[in-house]
Amino acid sequence: MTGISGRGNDVALQIFGAAMNASPDALLALDADGMVLCANAAAARLFGLPQDAFAGLDHRPLIAEGFRGEVANLFRQLLAHPDQPQPPREIAGLRSDGSEFPLEVAAAVLPAGPRSDPALIPAGDTGPAGARLLLSARGTAHRQATNESLREAMSLLTATLESTADGILVMGVDGSVAGFNEQFLTMWGIPPALLEADSEEPAVRVVMAQVADPVSFTARLNEVQKDPSAESHDVVELLDGRTFERYSRPQRVGEKIVGRVWSFRDATPRRKAQEQVHQALKDLAEQAEKLRAMAFQDPLTGLANRAVFNEALANSLAEPRLKTVDVLLLDLDDFKEVNDILGHQAGDDMLVEVARRLRGCTPTADVVARLGGDEFVVLLTACPDPDEIAACIVRCLHVPVTIGGTVLRPSLSLGLASLGQDSVGPSELLRHADIAMYAAKAAGKNRFLRFHPDMMQALVQRTHMESGLQLAVPRGEITVDFQPIVSHRMGQVVQLEALARWDRGGERVPPSIFIPLAERTGLINEIGAEVMASGMVQLARWLSEDPSRSLAVNVSGVQLQERDFAGTVLRLAEASGVAPYQLVLEVTESVFFDADGDLIDQLGTLRAAGARVALDDFGTGYSSLGRLQDLPVDTVKIDKTFVSMVRTGNERLPILSSMINMAHSLGLTVTAEGIETAAQADYLTALDCDSLQGYLFSLPEPGDRLIPALHHAEEALNALKGR
Ligand code: C2E
Ligand code: CA
Ligand code: CA
Repeated sequence: MTGISGRGNDVALQIFGAAMNASPDALLALDADGMVLCANAAAARLFGLPQDAFAGLDHRPLIAEGFRGEVANLFRQLLAHPDQPQPPREIAGLRSDGSEFPLEVAAAVLPAGPRSDPALIPAGDTGPAGARLLLSARGTAHRQATNESLREAMSLLTATLESTADGILVMGVDGSVAGFNEQFLTMWGIPPALLEADSEEPAVRVVMAQVADPVSFTARLNEVQKDPSAESHDVVELLDGRTFERYSRPQRVGEKIVGRVWSFRDATPRRKAQEQVHQALKDLAEQAEKLRAMAFQDPLTGLANRAVFNEALANSLAEPRLKTVDVLLLDLDDFKEVNDILGHQAGDDMLVEVARRLRGCTPTADVVARLGGDEFVVLLTACPDPDEIAACIVRCLHVPVTIGGTVLRPSLSLGLASLGQDSVGPSELLRHADIAMYAAKAAGKNRFLRFHPDMMQALVQRTHMESGLQLAVPRGEITVDFQPIVSHRMGQVVQLEALARWDRGGERVPPSIFIPLAERTGLINEIGAEVMASGMVQLARWLSEDPSRSLAVNVSGVQLQERDFAGTVLRLAEASGVAPYQLVLEVTESVFFDADGDLIDQLGTLRAAGARVALDDFGTGYSSLGRLQDLPVDTVKIDKTFVSMVRTGNERLPILSSMINMAHSLGLTVTAEGIETAAQADYLTALDCDSLQGYLFSLPEPGDRLIPALHHAEEALNALKGR
């Protein structure tokens, strides 16, 4: 090594020189004047000068101009306090080619020299005289490059962290918060100031207040904390309904774990979407099930529908092994009245109850279906005793049931048709059951009838009957019978009821057959008018003899729908010379249900003209005493079914007495129908019934037999008085 010479021993110097040259930093020994005594190899590389060119150089040209004062300052401080180490300074160096470069310099005082240099050590400084300095310089150009890429990496990381939708929190191993992103604060609603504070406590409290299950939340945290190298993934439910996914993994620097990175992802939208998809699938499945059910099921009763029945019937007929196939078709009696009087809800309730009972009666049935309205059908295959099942249905259905607070006794007509010897198709079997059902209705309802070929004849007759009825009035086939009504108190016949008769080709058709048909076809208007006109004409004289006498005519609801019904009646009365006050119009209770104002007005007009209105067949069907006071009527006619309850005359029949008392208390008069025995007449007379009607007094008789009829009635009445 050149430039180092002097008194010392050569070996020591050589070692020192080698050590200097081995240093990666540039080392320059300076005298008190700042002149270079010697420099090492690194200095030659750094400043771009041959190593032997340094000796005797001023060190200042090696420093960029702006930093020379700083270096001088460093030296000054060192010399003033030689045992106080000075931190390195960041300055710029100057190469021999004039280029500047970043430089970090440090300095130390070397053992004292013979003199001091005023140029290096400012006057007044009390540094040791002749001090030498060792200047160590290190180029930092590479360091700047590293800093820059670090900054770049940092900004990239920050940008990434801030742009991610995840909330990120970095915790040190000591449990302190090392970092977080904006999203973390937003997700948890943590004010930034809380995390910048000294303690994590307030922020933790904000978090804890939101999680649905803080206990398991903390337990999970502790568990993960125990194993610093563990990764975790779980789901956190929040009280506000949000769902966070929570991931965590250790934060490492090299091999060392320095903390843990927590990331929270708001999975609520995804979960909601999943839930929606789930719900939509469920709805779809339900809807499909409903549609499927609708295709096969009656929605009201839950029974099978017509399509199911038809298919099952066709299948059973196609199955040769099945020896018996029975179809039981049934229809409720007077169901329309339930609907009209008690309302559609009651009607529905009734159908549901009927369905329930029907199912109970037919546990072995292949199909129990509702065909529509009040029509049901039961299919039995290989059933040993279908007649027994049919009878059971009729019985079970007739048990009283309370619907909408009213006790009802459902009844039905059932037609039974079975697969016989001759092969029949499904539609034929059903038609046979239908014919049998109509026969059951015609035979008085509340019963079952098995199909018989004779019934076909009856059906053919029924269809012919309608065309016959069309011509009945023009052909003069409609006549009137009169039945006397007596007053026990007055001891005489006070009224005659006109009853329509139809003689068809020498054969009498009962009113119970042709009146409903006439009502269905509207022919009742013509027939009713005929009966009224004929009745008035025939009775005009009898009525004129005594103003207390009256003529009663039956009026159906269909007639009351006629716009000018009241006018027609009054005109007929005038034409025949009958005073309106001698007329009684008999209507049944059902005309008042779904009655419009027009119908009430018609009756009002007639009553205003003096005519009276009687409520026929009172107590049958679904009528009630309670409604009586609201009806525009003058008289109540107690139905013969009540009268027939009197057999010996000794029975207690509170229903009869309460009907009569109730009517009287409302100012109505009471007529009892169907009096056939003296016991019945006595019983009703004892109850203060106003008038009596029935075969005991007289059958209905045509006008030309009126005298004997009246005579018979009065005799019967006298006989009663004599008892
Ligand atoms: P309704 O108005 O209740 O007439 C009384 C029915 O009872 C009559 O039957 C009569 O013959 C019958 N009867 C009278 N006394 C007795 C008795 O002691 N015992 C029994 N078992 N029955 C008795 P009919 O004549 O067969 O008439 C049946 C129904 O046809 C009538 O019942 C009425 O609702 C209807 N009807 C008859 N003529 C007419 C009419 O001109 N117009 C309308 N709209 N309906 C009519
Ligand atoms: Ca009547
Ligand atoms: Ca009646």
